Amino acid sequence: MMSLLTEKLRAVLPEERILVDEPLAAHTTFRIGGPADCFCTIESIEELQNAIHVAQELKIPWFILGRGSNLLVSDEGYRGLILHIGRGFEQVRIEGEMVTAQSGISLSALGRIVLEHSLDGFSFAAGIPGSLGGAVYMNAGAYGGEMKDILVSALVMDPEGRCFILSNEEMELGYRESIFQHRDWIVLEATLKLTPGDRDKIEADMKDLMQRRSSKQPLEYPSAGSVFKRPPGHFAGGLIEEAGLKGCQIGGARISEKHAGFIINAGEATAADVVALVRHAQDVVEQQSGVRLEPELKILKDECLIRL
Ligand SMILES: Cc1cc2nc3c(=O)[nH]c(=O)nc-3n(C[C@H](O)[C@H](O)[C@H](O)COP(=O)(O)OP(=O)(O)OC[C@H]3O[C@@H](n4cnc5c(N)ncnc54)[C@H](O)[C@@H]3O)c2cc1C
Repeated sequence: MMSLLTEKLRAVLPEERILVDEPLAAHTTFRIGGPADCFCTIESIEELQNAIHVAQELKIPWFILGRGSNLLVSDEGYRGLILHIGRGFEQVRIEGEMVTAQSGISLSALGRIVLEHSLDGFSFAAGIPGSLGGAVYMNAGAYGGEMKDILVSALVMDPEGRCFILSNEEMELGYRESIFQHRDWIVLEATLKLTPGDRDKIEADMKDLMQRRSSKQPLEYPSAGSVFKRPPGHFAGGLIEEAGLKGCQIGGARISEKHAGFIINAGEATAADVVALVRHAQDVVEQQSGVRLEPELKILKDECLIRL
């Protein structure tokens, strides 16, 4: 079936962008993950429509990959087609306070562009190491801001290749939640409403938030950021620390000493190590505080996302 898939993909994508048995560790910030049966970098809406059409026709599972910064991929990898949103999806249009950007742009690159236009309201996102599409999917947020506050609408595609626009309300954005987590829809571009501001002040805010990140987060190690959602009335990191789990290690996966909400790849960690550590932290924290931590991290196993 895979040879039929690659043969059909060759008709719609350049050969050099169709990779077989590609290790996903090379495409996630955790640096963990076995091979994808097939991995394609997608550079246009038409390529995306065609590649999904091929996968749907052959009944082969497909998965959209942004920057891989909120993803743990199993050691066995992915049985299907990974569609990595690539550099062709990085265009930005700015009209006054309205910023429309394609979903593959990194939040840091978009941060630099809005800074040059003296547009305020995006500083909270500029240090998050994901793509705009991933940030919409996750309703990413930090330091009191979240995508929901600035998103006006998104251009979206369904698996049949139909494109349509969703408003902020229609995206059903909540804490690390969006409608995209419950549908096979792909974010193609997003329109944000920012506010005119003072360039120097915006730059100082961005630098300050970056500094706060590097002083509090173990950025020197591969990770996928905060592993757990914030439980109501608590901080996940605080509960993990109070449970005495800072520095706790299983295989190569360790609960960061610097920020207990992070699990780091301390060297040669496997996905199984991370999953075992996630479960251990959930169990110990629940025993001690009565709170069951829910992962924010997305876990890709075999051919779909799984829940822990
Ligand atoms: C050091 C570090 C710090 C972090 N800090 C923060 C933080 O402060 N706040 C925060 O919210 N997160 C944070 N994160 C987590 C992560 O960066 C965000 O969740 C980010 O939004 C994920 O984007 P991505 O492109 O990497 O998505 P990926 O990890 O590639 O994918 C995540 C999910 O989004 C889906 N997806 C990706 N692109 C699209 C698209 N175009 N259309 C539809 N679905 C799509 C994928 O299918 C997958 O299910 C941090 C991560 C790290 C490593």
